[in-house]
Amino acid sequence: MKQFRFIALVIFLLLVIAVLMLCGLYFLFSKPQHIKAQTTAKKTQTIVLDCGHGGPDGGAVGADGTLEKDINLSLGFALREILLQNGYTVVMTRETDDFICDDHSASLREQNVSDLHNRLKIAESYPDSVFISLHMNNFSQKQYWGSQLFYSPNHPNSRVLAEAIRSRLVQSVQKGNERALKQMDSSVYIIYRATHPALLLECGFMSNQKELNRFKDKKYRSNFAFAVFLGINDYLTGENDGEKQH
Ligand SMILES: [Zn+2]
Repeated sequence: MKQFRFIALVIFLLLVIAVLMLCGLYFLFSKPQHIKAQTTAKKTQTIVLDCGHGGPDGGAVGADGTLEKDINLSLGFALREILLQNGYTVVMTRETDDFICDDHSASLREQNVSDLHNRLKIAESYPDSVFISLHMNNFSQKQYWGSQLFYSPNHPNSRVLAEAIRSRLVQSVQKGNERALKQMDSSVYIIYRATHPALLLECGFMSNQKELNRFKDKKYRSNFAFAVFLGINDYLTGENDGEKQH
């Protein structure tokens, strides 16, 4: 009888140990999954690329006749390719040389307004996305050069994203560029209204022939796009999480 009690006690203790071990395993494996879910949730995977102008709106015109809309689109394609290769989802507001207006028979001004509204609509229709508008600058004095970033005033992370891109550009293709970030004013409708992290990147000056020639070169565009990608990637993978607000 005593022996039977002893065996029952041992079986009971073994059962208690097994239950405790199962509980331990549950906590051990459930916690990292929770952390992982949070990490994934805060990452944005969709980048909306907006190549400025298009169709009847050529944007700035270089001294050699180069149109800004064409440079913007080429840069957009280069950036899209790198982002896709790195597993991001990319949406482009335009992929052809055209306005994305609702009614092509309307007046040019109406088409322009509709085009801007539609671009903003695309930007806003992807929750948890970032919006990057690509443009080229233009100025009456031809010596000015260098990219500059204008961030949206609505989302605090717009500035963090802009700084990440600025930093990568200056490290590689824009050495010596001391242009500071600027908050966008109401003059640029989409960036001023966008509610997600959003910015406008003036990539370089159409009015500076030396800089324009660089942007006409496919290899330079590819290097420029790669630096912009690195900035976006730094931001999305949390390289500058200290400054970011969620
Ligand atoms: Zn422009």
